[in-house]
Amino acid sequence: MSGAPRVPIAVTVAGAGVLGLASAIALADAGCRVTVCDPGGPNASSIAAGMLAPVFEAVLDEAVRPHLDLLVAARDLWPGFAARTGVALDRSGALAVGEAAWLDEVAARFAALQLRPTEIGGATARGLAPGLAEAWPRALMTREDWQVDAPTALNALRRAAADAGVAFRTAVARGPGEADVLVLATGAHASAQALAPELSALSPIKGHIVRVATEAAGAVVRSQGVYAAPGSGMAFGATMEAGRDDVGVDPALGEPLHAAGLRLFPGLAGLPVQVAAGVRAATPDALPLAGLSVAPGVILATGARRNGWLLAPLVARVVVAGVTGADAGPYAAQLDPRRFEARP
Ligand SMILES: Cc1cc2nc3c(=O)[nH]c(=O)nc-3n(C[C@H](O)[C@H](O)[C@H](O)COP(=O)(O)OP(=O)(O)OC[C@H]3O[C@@H](n4cnc5c(N)ncnc54)[C@H](O)[C@@H]3O)c2cc1C
Repeated sequence: MSGAPRVPIAVTVAGAGVLGLASAIALADAGCRVTVCDPGGPNASSIAAGMLAPVFEAVLDEAVRPHLDLLVAARDLWPGFAARTGVALDRSGALAVGEAAWLDEVAARFAALQLRPTEIGGATARGLAPGLAEAWPRALMTREDWQVDAPTALNALRRAAADAGVAFRTAVARGPGEADVLVLATGAHASAQALAPELSALSPIKGHIVRVATEAAGAVVRSQGVYAAPGSGMAFGATMEAGRDDVGVDPALGEPLHAAGLRLFPGLAGLPVQVAAGVRAATPDALPLAGLSVAPGVILATGARRNGWLLAPLVARVVVAGVTGADAGPYAAQLDPRRFEARP
């Protein structure tokens, strides 16, 4: 598939989550004839909080801490990607509030990553995150983390893909069909496992998220065991249930998130709440599988764990490179799907 491309290359993209749609748009822009197949229904992308958060993810999530540079590089592709696709990008930033000892630990983790958050007082924090409780006298703030409203953004990506000439089929993809190349952007779903051996590296992490029906705006707020992400509704997230691959909603797991979220935004008490669950696909090193499979004609775009929205433009670039032979950029080797193969 590398080398001089036959034009137009016909590509089937399996999966209409953020990785599938971002890949489909980039492939169409590269001159490919693209069809996206998806059986439909909610997916991880549609229920996500939509944080584009290289800094707080590296600070708070040990698994991606070694990959800060890659996360920042993905974030840096977003202004162009948002402009191309009509996705509204919110650059209000993110702040952390919590007990003093926890906040000190967060500050130490920033420092260990050579990052410096801005120390702000409670009143300033409340100005940046309207409705934030008065209980928090200080906060750590960064403008490096951004956000999109995931459900709205997914619709925008679908529209942008259709406008770029991408065709959509409501169907499960079982192979490339008539296409030259099959891109597997199937998230945590097991249905595609037979199509690429590298998918066996994936494991599921289920996540519950609570959405309070309100119009919220401002900075994302991170705290102990919970975040609050404004958008169409205030999202309080999220559980990390390793090994669970079902999307059944357990209200008992939403309740502690709701309670923790209301400690941040007490004014939202009593408003209607919706609890949702989705499944993240995770690899052993917490980075996606993006690029050529050993299976001929198959390219992977999955395994983005907690950061599929953040990583989508970067994954799409690697997918296009796999199909057309274009430059995959400096981070492609880290995403190579074959990196977990047993070495002799
Ligand atoms: C609660 C929660 C909160 C999150 N918050 C954030 C966040 O704030 N920021 C962030 O960056 N990430 C976040 N994530 C992670 C992010 O949602 C995922 O990494 C991302 O959505 C994965 O996108 P995807 O396209 O790989 O998979 P999905 O969105 O799961 O889409 C996969 C699609 O493939 C389809 N499919 C499956 N098999 C087939 C087949 N054989 N043929 C055709 N179609 C098929 C499915 O129907 C589905 O639509 C969150 C995840 C959860 C669960």
